[in-house]
Amino acid sequence: MKAEEQMPDEKWQAIISNDASYDGRFIYAVKTTGIFCRPSCKSKAPNKENVRLFENAEQARSAHFRPCKRCKPTGERLPDDEWVNVITQYIDSHYRESLTLDTLAEMCHGSPYHLQRTFKRVKGMTPIEYIQQTRMIKAKEYLAHTDRAVSDIALNVGMPNTSYFITLFKRKIGRTPSDYRHSKRHSKQNNEMPEVPHGGREN
Ligand SMILES: [Zn+2]
Repeated sequence: MKAEEQMPDEKWQAIISNDASYDGRFIYAVKTTGIFCRPSCKSKAPNKENVRLFENAEQARSAHFRPCKRCKPTGERLPDDEWVNVITQYIDSHYRESLTLDTLAEMCHGSPYHLQRTFKRVKGMTPIEYIQQTRMIKAKEYLAHTDRAVSDIALNVGMPNTSYFITLFKRKIGRTPSDYRHSKRHSKQNNEMPEVPHGGREN
């Protein structure tokens, strides 16, 4: 048997019916998520055209797929901190998009419940808190260093609802986005070159 083959109907049926009697007989990987599973895995059924078949976990690994957190096709777990790293990297590069616990869980092949607990244990905050923190850090950069409108900045950090963005910003940072921007500009003028009160010297 080759490492990769056309999808026989029998195996596809085993995948979509989570048939445990096929466990140990083959492994399937999903190209879009980069994760491989046992046939019995309860994860959402993949699109058939994105599936690759392997004889065993080693073959899937050597094709650069990662084992699924839920069905543990290698018999060992991906270490939690490694798994959480994959998720934070995903958030860091997708914070502009709409992200929920469910979409994250689906992306990384775990249950939302498990994701919430593991993430919090490793990072000390929930995935949603991490998303919000990432968005606030980016928003602060935009406010301090650009003249873009608050609504535009909100949209750019994945929060199309401006009034919710302002509410969240105020709750997390302790002042409104406009006040924050004003204070950054103000402190720049007054504190960054304290020894030259009249701005007489430029470097
Ligand atoms: Zn799985």
